[in-house]
Amino acid sequence: MAISRRRFLAGGLTAGALGLLGCAHEASVHRQRWYYFGTLVDVTVVHADARRVAHALQRVSALFGDIHRNLHAWRPGELQRINHAIAVGEAVSIAPSTVRMIADIQDQHVRSGGAFNPAVGELIGLWGFHDDELPTGRPPSRKRIDELVDRQPSPLDIDVSGGRLISRNRHVQLDLGGYGKGYALDAGMALFREAGLTDVIINAGGDLNVSGRQNRRAWRVGIRDPGGHGAMGYLQTAGSEAVYTSGSYERYLDVDGKRYAHIIDPRDGMPVDDIVSATVVDSAGTRADAAATALAVAGRQWRDVAEFLGVREAMVIDSQGGIALTTAMADRVSLDARTRRQVTVG
Ligand code: AMP
Ligand code: MG
Repeated sequence: MAISRRRFLAGGLTAGALGLLGCAHEASVHRQRWYYFGTLVDVTVVHADARRVAHALQRVSALFGDIHRNLHAWRPGELQRINHAIAVGEAVSIAPSTVRMIADIQDQHVRSGGAFNPAVGELIGLWGFHDDELPTGRPPSRKRIDELVDRQPSPLDIDVSGGRLISRNRHVQLDLGGYGKGYALDAGMALFREAGLTDVIINAGGDLNVSGRQNRRAWRVGIRDPGGHGAMGYLQTAGSEAVYTSGSYERYLDVDGKRYAHIIDPRDGMPVDDIVSATVVDSAGTRADAAATALAVAGRQWRDVAEFLGVREAMVIDSQGGIALTTAMADRVSLDARTRRQVTVG
């Protein structure tokens, strides 16, 4: 999870205070900024009790620190411990939360028709994305890519029982770059909810979870134009939900004018190039995160994969700049008239 991106602007956050700031019984807006998961994480909480908010922020920050370490793809932590055990063919004990996470990953892998495959860590590493810096140099050889694809790593190679994980395939290397933020933000939201804080937005570099409202209205988030600098429109959220975007422009390897994206098609080991960005709205961050990655991999077949995944709200921008939205998504999104892109709905 070393992803730096600013696709969604926290458009709903610009309004400032909610009326009588400072009055003990009036809700006020509390903001906090951290750096986790390779990106800025902006949190906004609306509540009257500043001490309660401060305490919850502390707990969420500690939780994000733990998840950041434990799910990191190339630094020491629980994921590295698991990947090491898999590589040497040993069983490893895992936390109950990880047991549930593995089951969810397996489910999303199957429902995405294999497009979402967080077991392809070897390929992601081969393309040079297991580093804080963007990769440089030449793309890997076709021969080497084919070797890794032929090993067919899949989350379904993993068995978990009695709190122990074992993989039939030693070439499974878990990389949760396409899932971990959703997992973390869902957990963060759950902590806020436990603390009685329900009007919250957590924006991790454009991937965000929202709940409740601001200024008596649902949060509204700006949609960043992947080809430009400003917002190309906004999305109206409703209640508790998650809005996640996968973009081929976020991390990449540039070679001789060709750009190789960090999202890899598990079928041929190549970076995706049909789709520039895929945005999914869902009730949980884990589902929205995995689905956005899956749609980016699916390319022109994204509608089929969205259907298998049960995703109703999705927006995809293709490499020609065309915007396609599902009907349900079109009801939510207002695009700036100056965007001047071809828009297809349905
Ligand atoms: P996201 O921005 O959520 O799409 O996550 C992209 C990250 O997910 C990449 O940087 C990789 O760490 C990982 N990834 C790449 N390809 C896949 C894939 N086909 N399935 C699941 N995760 C992937
Ligand atoms: Mg994702």
